[in-house]
Amino acid sequence: MAELILDIKDLAVEYTSDKDIVKAVNGIDLSIEEGMTLGLVGETGAGKTTTALTIMGLLPENQSRVRRGEVLVNGKNVLQMKEKELEDLRGNLVSMIFQDPMSSLNPVKTVGEQIAEVIKIHEHLSDSDALIRAREMLETVGIPGERAGEYPHQFSGGMKQRVLIAIALACSPKLLLADEPTTALDVTIQAQVLELMKGLKDKFKTSMLMITHDFGIVAEVCDEVSVMYAGYIIEHGNLVDIFDNRRHPYTQGLFDSLPNIDDRKAKLKPIHGLTPDPVNLPSGCPFHPRCDYCMDVCKEMMPEKRQINDTHYVRCHLYNETTENRLNRDEE
Ligand code: SF4
Repeated sequence: MAELILDIKDLAVEYTSDKDIVKAVNGIDLSIEEGMTLGLVGETGAGKTTTALTIMGLLPENQSRVRRGEVLVNGKNVLQMKEKELEDLRGNLVSMIFQDPMSSLNPVKTVGEQIAEVIKIHEHLSDSDALIRAREMLETVGIPGERAGEYPHQFSGGMKQRVLIAIALACSPKLLLADEPTTALDVTIQAQVLELMKGLKDKFKTSMLMITHDFGIVAEVCDEVSVMYAGYIIEHGNLVDIFDNRRHPYTQGLFDSLPNIDDRKAKLKPIHGLTPDPVNLPSGCPFHPRCDYCMDVCKEMMPEKRQINDTHYVRCHLYNETTENRLNRDEE
């Protein structure tokens, strides 16, 4: 088995305020092998970004709490690192590309300075050498090096996202976390940026966690997919498992709500109801208030993982052996 760059075990994270506890992540397992891309898919509020911030050691202090679990990056537990170790981790081992390129760059510094800053911190180069490397990184993401002296407002949205990718890759991280990196871009630019990320990932042999709600992006860049709902991974598999043999009613619902290019007359089937309030999650399976297959047991117990094959698991009582046996008995 290839080396695991990321290995998350039973991670649970909550946000706290005077009044409420928000259960953002509720005991998830995730792993990424060297050079692989895992897609983390789900609606807004499913816990995807919280997972990424935990990996980076960027959860807001005093407002969040890791209740349990381990987050191993290259074999070391991020949750036990001191601030200095976390600083070394960020950039040297892990980088993150955020959703909104417009607000992620500093408007009063040139893009060259912003790339060089990261290189200087992590590679201890002189100002002039870091600037030379920054120009090279700009060229790598398809922007002429001589534009290093320009400011973010002089770049289009797609180019700003390229600059952010250059910053993220400037120190050849082993793991890249991309949080909806193309959401804020036009569709044609999205395709270019995704193509660029794929090429750079192969060139730098970087593993990637691609956070998205878009199965088109998953099909384009990912090797495996974890589907997240209300802070749980409810189904995981490779592309064939999820695109051709998905089992969980929520995963099915996500696919049913996509337009079907082969059958343009087919009606879209949205998932009824709303995502649950993480302050007050439903009992049992958190999807049960929206699920057409809900059984009594679903309201009482969160289903365990059921392995469908070596690469595919699901958490749903429909595939729980005892429930299956009972349903089969009822049918006889
Ligand atoms: Fe639906 Fe029950 Fe499966 Fe949850 S466990 S998805 S409620 S069938």
